[in-house]
Amino acid sequence: EVSANAALIGGLIDACREVIAANADHLSELDRAIGDGDHGTNMRRGLEAVHVERSRLVQLALPRALEEIGLTLVMSVGGAAGPLYGTLLIEIGRQLSGASGQIDFARALERAVDAVARRGRASPGDKTLLDVLYPVHGEVVRRAGLAGICEVAQRAASLTTGMRAMRGRAAFLGDRSIGHVDPGAKSCALLTAAICRFLEE
Ligand code: ADP
Ligand code: MG
Ligand code: MG
Repeated sequence: EVSANAALIGGLIDACREVIAANADHLSELDRAIGDGDHGTNMRRGLEAVHVERSRLVQLALPRALEEIGLTLVMSVGGAAGPLYGTLLIEIGRQLSGASGQIDFARALERAVDAVARRGRASPGDKTLLDVLYPVHGEVVRRAGLAGICEVAQRAASLTTGMRAMRGRAAFLGDRSIGHVDPGAKSCALLTAAICRFLEE
């Protein structure tokens, strides 16, 4: 018998791992256009490392599990995206664990997204995964529902096409980064969609 908590954590891990495995080649292809072509490989390595720890993670309370998943991503992803996704999950976990008082998920996500921005010294409009995270947070605050969140994430990733990269490897390309979807924004939208689909079931 599997507890509701274990089913939730295990389901989230599986949904994220599957969507990254299915789209790893595409994500690396996007990264080949404006980076070094490894974003899909990096993310797949990270989610495989998380999967290895699955049986231990599902026994933890959700906030603690998110922190542990974040630490694993920091150690295993390898690229710039590792510490950024890691910071996101570690911060959500820390905020939800209530160390600084009771807060809801929207508030926890807000603080975590701000922590990612500080870590990457990036702002909205810089053509990074933050250009998906901020709109997703906005939809969570608006209580838009899972379908709305998923839709906004996909649209937000597409909008990075018109942006000039200001952070990460793509920034070296300057104006030549315009016209390509940011790989980190794309992975973030894919993960958001996979999580929303899982939670809808
Ligand atoms: P690397 O660039 O080290 O090869 P990845 O290819 O795995 O790392 O990840 C690249 C993605 O990371 C970019 O598409 C972008 O979304 C994100 N990124 C890179 N640098 C930053 C930063 N300073 N702040 C926010 N996001 C960043
Ligand atoms: Mg790369
Ligand atoms: Mg790299």
